[in-house]
Amino acid sequence: MKRRVTITVRGAVQGVGFRPFVYRLAVALGLCGGVRNTADGVFIEAEGPEEVLQDFLVRLREERPGPAWIRALEAEFGEPRGCHGFEVRGSEADGVRTAWVMPDLATCPQCVRELFDPGNRRFRHPFISCAQCGPRFSMVEGLPYDRSRTSMRGFPMCLECAREYEDPADRRFHAQTIACLVCGPRLRVLEATGEPIALAAEALRSGLVVALKGIGGFQLLAAAHLDRAVNRLRLAKQRVEKPFALMVPDLAAAAQLGDVGRVEAELLGSSAAPIVLLRARAGSEVRIAPGVAPGLSRIGVMLPYSPVHHLLLADLGFPIVATSGNRSEEPICISEEEALERLGNLADLFVVNDRPIVRPLDDSVVQVVGGREQVLRRGRGYAPLPIELAGSVSVRVPVLAVGGHLKNSVALAFAGNIHLSGYVGDLVTPEAGALFRKTLGDLADLYGVVPERIACDLHPDYHSTLVAEGLERPLVRVPHHRAHVLACMADRGWSAPVLGVAWDGTGLGEDGVIWGGEFLLEEGVEARRVAHLHPFRLPGGEAAILHPSRSAMSVLFEAMGRQGLEWGERRGLWMAGDPWARVVETADFWPWTTSAGRLFDAVAALIGLRSRSSYEGQAAMELESLALGVNMDEIYTFSFDPPVMDWRPMIREMVGEVSDGVEAGLISVRFHNTLAGMIRDVAEFVGCPSVVLTGGCFQNRLLTESSVEQLTTAGFRTAWHQRIPPNDGGLAVGQILAAL
Ligand code: ZN
Ligand code: ZN
Ligand code: FE
Repeated sequence: MKRRVTITVRGAVQGVGFRPFVYRLAVALGLCGGVRNTADGVFIEAEGPEEVLQDFLVRLREERPGPAWIRALEAEFGEPRGCHGFEVRGSEADGVRTAWVMPDLATCPQCVRELFDPGNRRFRHPFISCAQCGPRFSMVEGLPYDRSRTSMRGFPMCLECAREYEDPADRRFHAQTIACLVCGPRLRVLEATGEPIALAAEALRSGLVVALKGIGGFQLLAAAHLDRAVNRLRLAKQRVEKPFALMVPDLAAAAQLGDVGRVEAELLGSSAAPIVLLRARAGSEVRIAPGVAPGLSRIGVMLPYSPVHHLLLADLGFPIVATSGNRSEEPICISEEEALERLGNLADLFVVNDRPIVRPLDDSVVQVVGGREQVLRRGRGYAPLPIELAGSVSVRVPVLAVGGHLKNSVALAFAGNIHLSGYVGDLVTPEAGALFRKTLGDLADLYGVVPERIACDLHPDYHSTLVAEGLERPLVRVPHHRAHVLACMADRGWSAPVLGVAWDGTGLGEDGVIWGGEFLLEEGVEARRVAHLHPFRLPGGEAAILHPSRSAMSVLFEAMGRQGLEWGERRGLWMAGDPWARVVETADFWPWTTSAGRLFDAVAALIGLRSRSSYEGQAAMELESLALGVNMDEIYTFSFDPPVMDWRPMIREMVGEVSDGVEAGLISVRFHNTLAGMIRDVAEFVGCPSVVLTGGCFQNRLLTESSVEQLTTAGFRTAWHQRIPPNDGGLAVGQILAAL
């Protein structure tokens, strides 16, 4: 019997070739009717025999285009009205704009094939794309997603592109990014003539630094095997040791450099194409300058994700360093003017194009923890995909959360979802502040939502807090570590009660102490601090972040008194007579801290790994690197006198081991094991069956995996961050939850 079905598809279904997919499927099944984009997603009407319609519904879900994501598919059956053929109709601009903007999608395999096919009319076209790939969020100016509301609107289609665009059977049907050599954007090199890819490749081969206008902003590129090129980039970016990411020609090259398991391979080749942290392989035949990731056993690797990258890497055949095109602590440059002004003396050659970038998006960074993806920096390829709220949480009014101070990102919640912005960065320069304020309005404008409530950190001096106070809306101030715990719960869809282990560098606690080694029992309405690490003074305050030796002095003094300081000085952990060593003993005006991040610093300094850092977390990352490949399950002694978890016995044992010349790798593993043991003991004391691990310290894979193992063995249900960063980049999500 003939029936009619109307289908509403909600989710990430616009800008991924969904309508042509529906068209082809309907035509193949002999159905009549039509499909159109709505403000809400996609709306389909179809008529045909009932069993064919049922088949249609199943296949809509199962055979959808790769990057599409269906949140809800609602079908309603009724009497047929009669129709002829299947139409693809235009967009509707009215209504609430809840159709999601897709993130930028890496060039798909079919487009890559055409790119290198001399017979194809888009052979070597630097802007090849189709309905399933190409830039999205970085070029969207408004919704619904149509070419007229993207930065492609300045490039009228040629006749041949228009024909493909209009043909529902074509892969480029309604591909808003469609372009070709005739009508598309142009690649060029500033102040030089010649073929841009060849010029750029030549510059890279000769050790120069190339600034490339990419998808979400400028990148600085240099040959990864040439020391002078890497050093030049370090000098230019004033980046002493922070690791650089690499772009390699293909998966095989990635596997040469690091351990690529099944999950890593999937992530590298995904349409998000993030930087994936790999365990570096010793004795790789591919030469990488030691300056790329000094002291670390992990390297960040990505594959080419735009046509220009594919052309360039195919020409070069060797890995390049690809780092964000910004000056230290500033956002990534997106326009030629900005790039020339701010990167002028950093780069030797500028490869640009005339397609405007609407908003900056850094490359995303992910790693694999416990066999699953963990996002560390959520930028290009991920933003602005929403995080769906668990069933028990509802959004009554739109809420805007401004995030933290470092690794900032902001979030907007409405209609049952949290939309997290791209990575804004550390709010320490006027340029970063400006991007932050722009980002606050960006998502709200795009979706046509007016936030009625604001959420911010409890810290009164954060730039984000000050801006939030100026928005003149009801303000919810959320304690830093509670926001971390809530963010992890949102990530996994968990609800209270939950024991949150929130360990990070620094965050203001409720008592003026710098927290960072906290155990919070989240009970829904509020969180109770049920345990914390034994406090120690932070000489020089937060400046100690760059001086692990100061944390070591303080920790040694706490554990062993003056004897500890004398031991440290004898071992040469700091210069004899360092005034800070005296400060630890006498000055009582420096803040107390319970920070696990600083405890990591202290241990790194104590075993002689480093006394100074050039970026936060460096000492901890190197400490973790030392432990890789070392197997042992011993732990140090610690004592738990609720609510204080006392690490001082551990430090005393460690001092003994260092004096006895025990290998640093063994000490590091034992230290990680001990922390996991502390976490298990607190969990057993608290007795809450669900535990979440959150905060910047849980970017440490060894700490996370050991803790999960200990907790799971002891019978606890344990979660760690996956889609939302464990660091302060995820704070905004937790702030939203606290404000709902
Ligand atoms: Zn494509
Ligand atoms: Zn064209
Ligand atoms: Fe934090």
